[in-house]
Parts: sequence; C-alpha cells; structure tokens
Amino acid sequence: MTEWHERFWEKVDQSGDCWVWTAATDKDGYGIFQLEGKAQKAHRVIFLVLNGKLPPKEKKSCHSCDNPPCVNPEHLWLGSTKDNIHDALSKRRLFHQKGDHPKKLAAAIAAYKAGKNTIGEIVERFGVSSSTLNVHTKEIPRRSLKVVITDKQVREIRAAATRGEAHKVIADRYDIYISTVGKICRREVRSNVK
Ligand SMILES: [Zn+2]
Repeated sequence: MTEWHERFWEKVDQSGDCWVWTAATDKDGYGIFQLEGKAQKAHRVIFLVLNGKLPPKEKKSCHSCDNPPCVNPEHLWLGSTKDNIHDALSKRRLFHQKGDHPKKLAAAIAAYKAGKNTIGEIVERFGVSSSTLNVHTKEIPRRSLKVVITDKQVREIRAAATRGEAHKVIADRYDIYISTVGKICRREVRSNVK
C-alpha cells in the first residue's frame, strides 16, 4: 500500500456523519493534503483514495452537507463549475427517490443486526455503501463479536494490500480492525496460509 493513504486517513475523524478533516485547511475551510509535494484539496484526494484517480480538473468536488472540511464520499458529488446548488438538490432528490434503496438499506441493517455476515458481504449483497451502512448502524451493537476470516480471505486481504488498497478500506470490507489487517499482511498472524 502507498505510504500516503495511511497519512491521509490519520487526518480524518470518522466519528460523525461528516468525516471531518483534522489537519490544515485553506481560508475557505477545505482540507489541504500534501501529495507528492503539491497541496491538494482533501475532498478531491478522497476520490483518488477510493477510485485511484483525482477528479478531472474541470469538475468540482461539491458538498451536499455544506461542510467544507468533510471528506465523506457519501456527501460529495462532482459537478462542473456551472452547476449550482439547485442541481445538487435535484440530484439528491433523484437519488433518494430510487424506491428500492430504503428497502435495501432496511434489509442490510437487519443483516448487520443478525451478525452472520461481514460488512463486506452485506455491502455486496444489498448494494449499499459501507459508509451509508455505518451511518445507520453505528449505534447498533452487533450480535456476533467474532468474525472468522477464512484462508481464502487471508489471501485476498494480502493481495489487496499488495495492490495498494488502504488498510482502512480492507478492514471495512472484512469487518475487522485495521491493526488486524496489518498483522495479517506482516504474517504476524495466519502465517500458515501461503
Ligand atoms: Zn459531510
């Protein structure tokens, strides 16, 4: 994994609905992140973290939450400089009108409560994002406290880390601690799995 992914996530406070940048900000309150010697806006860098590339120059990363230091991808959308807040609002309305989404989310929350699936499995099965699920489940205790990682998943985790995926992203997918991902990758645990 790339050194700067870790450095990026260290500066993000994910305890609330908005993921707040805790390091330097510009005069407008947008997070600033030093990437390869260049100052980049944190709410643009999040697209690089998640999608492997920065948004095109002509696209602005806009906040639906009106909170400049927020880097929660669920609160960000890409628009041209001509787009205005009305576009933002209509896009959000369209998103929320997708009738099956609330049903999917309810099913995903029920699966979460049952505690038989990892977060990654729930995300895949119900088509909801892990951050949306997190917003709706952070107060709900999970029934199952022990997540069993199979040998196959150990190999997948190591492969994902080798590809440069952030440990945080991997940890969310398999519903394990970030430190566990590190231990698996350094072969401090599950060293028997080749
Ligand atoms: Zn936000």
